[in-house]
Amino acid sequence: MKHPLDTFRYCPRCGSRGFTVNNAKSKQCRDCGFVYYFNPCAATVALLVNEKNELLVARRAHEPARGTLDLPGGFTDPYETAEEGLRREVREETGLELHSISFLFSLPNIYPYSGFEVHTLDLFFRCQAEETTRLQPMDDVEELFFLPLSQIRPEEFGLTSVRKGVRLFLCQSVHTDLREG
Ligand SMILES: [Zn+2]
Repeated sequence: MKHPLDTFRYCPRCGSRGFTVNNAKSKQCRDCGFVYYFNPCAATVALLVNEKNELLVARRAHEPARGTLDLPGGFTDPYETAEEGLRREVREETGLELHSISFLFSLPNIYPYSGFEVHTLDLFFRCQAEETTRLQPMDDVEELFFLPLSQIRPEEFGLTSVRKGVRLFLCQSVHTDLREG
């Protein structure tokens, strides 16, 4: 298997070519001793449900998986909590302000970007927003709409972890409905 830091051939501190595999997750410079660990980036995903129990779905405007369905969310910024990152991404992509957020589960993912495989840990949150009628697709979103949970087909979601997350969410929702019903 290819080392996750295969793309990084030179030491980022001293520029040496002696930047070699240290273990499965890191490389070390033979000249200056610098060690760099490859860690996943945290990303957030919004499972935003309205008062009619419909899920907010986006259509991707850009690659990867352009034109397929997606959920609002994105990478967290440095110094930001996951909740702050989620609120910011939802605001940037939909114009909506979240008023309730609860963490559900996480899934590891690989996001191809700029010829590099970015490893992420996607954090899925169930959330609600005020005035969900004032949707405005922005940023990397082509269109936004609400889908009744019964009409959601996970295979239409192009990104692997989002597709898995939608499946898990639907399973959990069915169980919750059975318990509550
Ligand atoms: Zn070095």
